[in-house]
Amino acid sequence: MLDIEKIRADFPILSQKVNGKPLVYFDNAATSQKPTVVIDAISGYYKEINANIHRGVHTLSQIATDAYEVSRKKIQAHINAEKAHEVLFTSGTTHGINLVASGFGAILKSGDEVLVSALEHHSNIVPWQMLCEKTGAVLKVIPMDQNGELIQDAYDALLSEKTKIVAVNHISNALGTINPIQRMIAKAHEVGAAVLIDGAQATPHLRPDVQALDCDFYVFSGHKICGPTGTGVLYGKEVWLEKLPPYQGGGEMIKEVTFEKTTYAGLPHKFEAGTPNIEGGIVLGTSIDYLNAIGFENIAAYEHELLVYGTERLLEIEGLKIYGPNVDSGNKTAVISFNIDGIHPYDIGTIIDRQGIAVRTGHHCAQPIMSFFEIPGTIRASFAFYNTKEEIDLMVAAIKKARTMLV
Ligand SMILES: *Cc1c(COP(=O)(O)O)cnc(C)c1O
Repeated sequence: MLDIEKIRADFPILSQKVNGKPLVYFDNAATSQKPTVVIDAISGYYKEINANIHRGVHTLSQIATDAYEVSRKKIQAHINAEKAHEVLFTSGTTHGINLVASGFGAILKSGDEVLVSALEHHSNIVPWQMLCEKTGAVLKVIPMDQNGELIQDAYDALLSEKTKIVAVNHISNALGTINPIQRMIAKAHEVGAAVLIDGAQATPHLRPDVQALDCDFYVFSGHKICGPTGTGVLYGKEVWLEKLPPYQGGGEMIKEVTFEKTTYAGLPHKFEAGTPNIEGGIVLGTSIDYLNAIGFENIAAYEHELLVYGTERLLEIEGLKIYGPNVDSGNKTAVISFNIDGIHPYDIGTIIDRQGIAVRTGHHCAQPIMSFFEIPGTIRASFAFYNTKEEIDLMVAAIKKARTMLV
């Protein structure tokens, strides 16, 4: 099992005081904190390696290029991609989804259909709406039930030969629902549709195997897995990446340029125009090493303990309602989204912040979910492997106190 005290010592920010109180950081679904190895790797890059990549013959440029490509291979191994050039560096999940949606602009025709789910983050809704607007394709929505789980029969009924792409998250950021994506991918393939999985909320808790899943695209953000902001990954099957047109034009993505015609570079460079976030790409590899050393099975088991404990303790509070799947369903990750009767989520968030407790309040970039439950938003406590039961106790005590002030 995990030595949590030792792990916490890896994260300098966790020993800080906020508003005079020890920080209790329960906003991990928004972004994770960074361990010292990651922070040091960032400055180490600028102290020792900094040079532009893939262009210089000089030694430093080669060292930087090698480090960048080693990181790509590390990510390839981590997600079990078949080929390193199926791993593209992006600035994050949002960038990855926009790249794919934009590419499908060259593929879709009027009347084709794009499927998203009722559980999506705005990042996995808006780019598809923009695509539909441009092509005349139709956006369809896989509905969910009162438990915040996608209705599989309704999904199956929506699929047809008109469906060209299904874009769904692996895990919902707003409710913690773990979607049955293996099944959903297989079903989509039966009608010849491609599948993009938004893994932003899954990759902090598990290690996706893109070949076993057989997804066509898998996207995630570095900043949610202890890596730097402005980093991310788009995995795409080679056949799809070959088929899609480039997203941005510029340096690095070309083979030959004349004013008459430009030919594009091969994968992955075709999709990596311009000077990338070199340091970020390299250090993302460091963060993945860090998490793998702790072990995703250990992380998932411990976080589940926090989920069970947190759910139990929160339900002691009168009038508190939790949204999303049941803790014992096996379909829920360490995210607890809740409301208290008669109190606006924002008020709770503001009061407990005075006690140093950081939770998210609002719609969590998933307004359609809030509309479904007919609520303005929720309070969301999202746990990471460096959180503790004692911190949950502090949050519950602070909420109980806030409640007596507000009702
Ligand atoms: C955070 C998140 C995103 C957006 O990620 P960015 O890092 O902001 O690009 C998309 N989908 C889900 C499920 C998320 O949790």
